Amino acid sequence: SQGLMAGKRGLIMGVANNRSIAWGIAKALAAQGAEIAFSYQGEALKKRVEPLAAELGVTTLVECDVSNDAAIDETFRTLAEKWGTLDFLVHAIGFSNKEELEGRYINTSAENFALTMNVSVYSFTAVAKRAEAMMSEGGSLLTLTYYGAAKYVPNYNVMGVAKAALEASVRYLAVDMGAKGIRVNAISAGAIKTLAASGISGLRDMLHWQEANSALRKNVSIDDVGKASLYLLSDLSSGVTGEIHYVDAGFNVVGMKLMDDKPA
Ligand code: NAD
Repeated sequence: SQGLMAGKRGLIMGVANNRSIAWGIAKALAAQGAEIAFSYQGEALKKRVEPLAAELGVTTLVECDVSNDAAIDETFRTLAEKWGTLDFLVHAIGFSNKEELEGRYINTSAENFALTMNVSVYSFTAVAKRAEAMMSEGGSLLTLTYYGAAKYVPNYNVMGVAKAALEASVRYLAVDMGAKGIRVNAISAGAIKTLAASGISGLRDMLHWQEANSALRKNVSIDDVGKASLYLLSDLSSGVTGEIHYVDAGFNVVGMKLMDDKPA
């Protein structure tokens, strides 16, 4: 096949439905010739993910709840048997209890703090370690983060703290894996209405605020994220690692707008 991803094989973790950021990434990579495997969280999602996989000709579908180390091992065992090597990995996974994605951060429980960090942060390191073993020819890893890591965003709470830790782990993994020619980056996506984002109280306000206050005066789509992922997962970004790349219509660069600014 032809394209920027021709001859590259990779695992995309985190497709839940056709609104998932992972799905936007999968479409962009498949269109450029990537060979893709999907992992999904659990049996309940299987019937949603199967038709999406079929649409892109994805034949390797594995169930993998990342809070289960044995399931992660099994996923990479399956890939090792099927492919032997791996060129890229997309981690588009995050979770926190909905009850703590509203109100004051200060009310975060120890239990949900640990759960959020395990599923949303540690899992990236856990899969990076398994991927490294299959990337003897180098490779590229990508995770998804959000502006709430860098600045306060209402209701984002413990997820913001987790994303800050995720962004730090991108830098540590980039150096750990750099000697093997493996690159590690994150896309910081603007707010998008997905299943996970719907758990955040006041998502509608976030979307309106971002649309009004971004440089491009618009919200981003999963296809915008997909196009940027193509750069970070292909050889186009061969000199780039450890980066947090914003795909947010320029929202994060705006400190204040003109008082009489009009929408685009
Ligand atoms: P989504 O709900 O479509 O995807 C989240 C995925 O995480 C789902 O596929 C879900 O099954 C998976 N997941 C949760 N717990 C898991 C577990 N224990 N094991 C395996 N998988 C698990 O929502 P999304 O918005 O596409 O989220 C993808 C990533 O993008 C997340 O890391 C999210 O924080 C990040 N992100 C989202 C936005 C946004 O506004 N939607 C913005 C920036 C970053």
